[in-house]
Amino acid sequence: MSNKEQKLVAALENGTVIDHIPTDKLFTIAQLLEVSKCTEPVLIGNNLESKMMGKKGLIKISGKFFTEAEISKLAVVCPNIRLVEIRNYEVVAKRQITLPETLTDIVKCANPVCITNNEPMKTVFYLKGTDTLKCRYCGKEQKLENIKLK
Ligand SMILES: [Zn+2]
Repeated sequence: MSNKEQKLVAALENGTVIDHIPTDKLFTIAQLLEVSKCTEPVLIGNNLESKMMGKKGLIKISGKFFTEAEISKLAVVCPNIRLVEIRNYEVVAKRQITLPETLTDIVKCANPVCITNNEPMKTVFYLKGTDTLKCRYCGKEQKLENIKLK
């Protein structure tokens, strides 16, 4: 991390920085995180300089730490982002988000006759390769780029 990047991160007392967001995904991620409902300070930056990506987006949310379910959702939309957790101005955890092998109740099945679209139940998808999800119930495969969140 460059000094400039470190400064951006250090300004948060407690909360999470979502870093390395592709610029075209920034507002999708912001919506997914429901930042419009946050009552604590939120900073959203886009087209920031990044050595790794050229340009990137970044979101800082005060007082917010993500659950595994929220992280899985983020991973579906944007598999390569990074989460940095800050407590008392210190970076306590950095993690690269990765897509889990099984996604429970995160994605909607694209098959209209799938039981998960007709019964009040949780969806389950298995990761196939790096970019395909397969429905546990009907076997329908969907590319990650086309999925709809539940
Ligand atoms: Zn299905």
